[in-house]
Amino acid sequence: MSGEKLEVRGIINPLKWLGWLFSPIAKNGAFFVFMFALGWLCCQLEIMPYYLRHRGAQPYGLTVPELFLDLYVVCVVLTIIRPHYSSGGSKLFTLHSSLFTFLKALLYLFLYGIAIVDVFCYVRFESTLTPTMLMLVGETSSQEAGEFLSAYLSWDVLTSEVGWILLLMLVHLLWTVLRWRTAKLRKRMILPKVSPVVTMGFRAVLGLLVVWALWSAVSQCWDNKVAMQRLFACNTLGEAEHELTRKDHAVLYVPPYRLAFAISANRLASHQLLQLEKASAKIQVDSCCFRVPDIVLVIGESYNKHHSQLYGYDKPTTPRQVAMAEQGSLVPFTDVVSSWNLTSFVFKHMLSLYAVGDSSEWCDEPLFPEVFRKAGYHVTFLTNQFLPKAKEAVYDFSGGFFLSNPALSSRLFDERNTELYHYDGDLVKELQQRDGCKGRLTILHLMGSHVDYQARYPQKTFRQFTPQQYNRPELTAKQRQTLAHYDNSLLYNDSILAAIINLFADKDAVVIYVPDHGEEVFDNPPYTNGRRHNADIDYPLARNEMEIPFWVWGSPQYIEHHPYGWKAIQEAKDRPMMIDALPHFLLYLGGISTPLYRSELNVISPDYDLKRPRILKGTTDYNQLKK
Ligand SMILES: [Zn+2]
Repeated sequence: MSGEKLEVRGIINPLKWLGWLFSPIAKNGAFFVFMFALGWLCCQLEIMPYYLRHRGAQPYGLTVPELFLDLYVVCVVLTIIRPHYSSGGSKLFTLHSSLFTFLKALLYLFLYGIAIVDVFCYVRFESTLTPTMLMLVGETSSQEAGEFLSAYLSWDVLTSEVGWILLLMLVHLLWTVLRWRTAKLRKRMILPKVSPVVTMGFRAVLGLLVVWALWSAVSQCWDNKVAMQRLFACNTLGEAEHELTRKDHAVLYVPPYRLAFAISANRLASHQLLQLEKASAKIQVDSCCFRVPDIVLVIGESYNKHHSQLYGYDKPTTPRQVAMAEQGSLVPFTDVVSSWNLTSFVFKHMLSLYAVGDSSEWCDEPLFPEVFRKAGYHVTFLTNQFLPKAKEAVYDFSGGFFLSNPALSSRLFDERNTELYHYDGDLVKELQQRDGCKGRLTILHLMGSHVDYQARYPQKTFRQFTPQQYNRPELTAKQRQTLAHYDNSLLYNDSILAAIINLFADKDAVVIYVPDHGEEVFDNPPYTNGRRHNADIDYPLARNEMEIPFWVWGSPQYIEHHPYGWKAIQEAKDRPMMIDALPHFLLYLGGISTPLYRSELNVISPDYDLKRPRILKGTTDYNQLKK
């Protein structure tokens, strides 16, 4: 008898060993099956690029083997850490069973949660989770988050692709409940006895299948795993960007990888602060004549040029600006574009002496406010969006990530505001007249027409446009209402700009207005509002989101004292310009002599390069697009 047992053991042992290879899946059966279904669903639902999803674009080709490989590895880990009991029933040295259940529940929560967010982003923004997406989340204050949710979260999400993920969750939940309720019943059931040899043999066959599947998965997915390793090993954001332009770049095929990359890329962004510190050392000011003693730069938000009466819109959204233009003190530039449709990117380009197309990065060049300070200007920055000491860590990695850094902030500005206001009008009240300085540079950063539009203007006094005034049968009643709110926010903005100008009416001053980018406000199909973050830029996108108003106002004193400068501004009004070149115009106005100044980027200089490509989002030349 005992001899027979030994014999079986001796022969069967390798079979048993093979059987073990299947046990990670057997022991985590539900996890394996449902997470496989989740990963597979994500791959099928989120076909990139988005615009090709109905035109034959296929899901990731290695979905099945790569999912198998990744999930098998996770199951091995789960098998190792799950509670093990010795034959006597005492627990071996592993995790406590309730801790294990808790960890597994967390894992489920994470995987389902990230899948829902990812598919939601795909449905709403035509892109899966990206570093930019994560940065946008970071850029959002709690007030904006609420507005965002009310603007984008509605019941139709359930009938979109997100519904499939929710359905899978529901099935998983039902299955778990059913299993739990029938557990006792199954314990009482007497199953027919199967010989251990047969069981072992069956498991060995399954083990063999696992070996084959693993071998095939590793050989197919090896290149992608190597590419992922390369991507995650990048030391700078530029390197990561470059890595992703390779033909054999990593495919981050399921949401957890995309989240990991988004986090790592945003971390790299924080390294840029160090680069900025190095760039500061480059600043050299040879002299400064304070050409214009009061320079005011007003940075707006989400301004669609084609909704500005100043640029031909059929509704009186900018009566004060139009009056000033007619009277001759305000010069509207007609051909200006933004370099991006995201506040943070534009801010970097607008503040840095870097210009798009340079071989360096934006953070390798100094930011112009610091140059002005070194030259002797008193620099004030009033922002209704970024705060230097924001308590919320969400400001990190956003347009404010570098502006919120205390060390950098103190190098850039003499003065900053410490409070945000609901309406821009209250921010303007913070503007104090400082006498006794040779020159003052004032930068105002408004909330402008940021979504949610109706929250941007006082309803009582500025509700001039109503949905009934829009003959737009192609829009829904709700869309016409949103449109009216947007135009009202522009009307309010007009009053803010006039109020700012008023403060400098008796100074030798120039006021420049430029928003960070445009906005979709139902101008063309697809009739949407907000901004589209698809990878490709077509002309309608550039028209609505990158074409921006840009004007220069000169005070009576300025016009009188600087006839040549004023004439140059008037003559430059139709020149093509992208706002990454703005700092060089400002340096000229300041009369700052520095090797950092490039006259070919100063829009009013005779050296100005009229043929410079205007590359949007680092990819598409606006000049070509316009043709
Ligand atoms: Zn913006």
